[in-house]
Amino acid sequence: MEIVTRFAPSPTGDLHLGSAYSAWVGWHRARESGGRFLVRIEDTDIRRCRREYEHAILADLQWLGLDWDGGVRRQSDHFADYGRILDQLDTRGLVYPCFCSRADIAREIAASAAAPHGPDGPLYPGTCHHLGTAERRFRLAAGEEHCLRLDAEKAAALVGAYHFVDEARGRIEGQPLLMGDFVIARKDTPTSYHLAVTVDDHLQGVTLVTRGEDVLPSTHVHVLLQKLLGYETPLYAHHRLLTDATGRRFAKRDRDMTIRAMRESGLTPAQVIDKALRSATDGLGAATGRP
Ligand code: GLU
Repeated sequence: MEIVTRFAPSPTGDLHLGSAYSAWVGWHRARESGGRFLVRIEDTDIRRCRREYEHAILADLQWLGLDWDGGVRRQSDHFADYGRILDQLDTRGLVYPCFCSRADIAREIAASAAAPHGPDGPLYPGTCHHLGTAERRFRLAAGEEHCLRLDAEKAAALVGAYHFVDEARGRIEGQPLLMGDFVIARKDTPTSYHLAVTVDDHLQGVTLVTRGEDVLPSTHVHVLLQKLLGYETPLYAHHRLLTDATGRRFAKRDRDMTIRAMRESGLTPAQVIDKALRSATDGLGAATGRP
């Protein structure tokens, strides 16, 4: 089967060495197998994403020689597609509106004796899950701002046991409740990162998802959504994150770690790729000891 990989940056800053490494992994796996490498712009967080970063990221990829196949898919151009899938989940009673602000959620968590925790902190305490139908209808009719959440328990019961395979880690049993009732559509868009990734990987025929191991917890719910929507589950290869000598992850705020800064300092594309690969194998990137 042809390998199709993708690199899916969010345009919230310049490409840095860590994400360039991620792009290289996807590109390399596609090219060594004669497959396809796709680029997708994940700009569903419309307040944080900027078109100039998108252009800069694509220019950096080109400069690095990480050429992609076909056009670039920009998620904000496809809100209607995600909206249709969302409607399907809604019709099946799998989503509910959540009117809570961040402050409401924090207050509720502080007041509860044992708030369940997920990989990103406390899970949503389920406040709006328990709203009565009449109140829900009234607040929707009043136009109250809300996001939509997946009813994870209901989804888990529908899907049953499931698993996915990570190349380095092997078979991983799906944990459908890992992220609790996660946001499936943000307040301002008819989608969320989790929904858009799942839909796009399916629509684009991605067979091998290469991305940082920080996203591994999310994979549990992406596969849950794939099962709900009848999609194939791709193979996963979560790679280690590059870190500096002190073990700290490279982030968009590290200006000197951006590809732009490296270009300006006179490094060649080959030298930058070499630096990324060395950081990944040298132990500089040994934050977790995994490949
Ligand atoms: N847009 C995500 C990011 O920039 C990519 C995660 C993924 O590859 O699924 O972190």
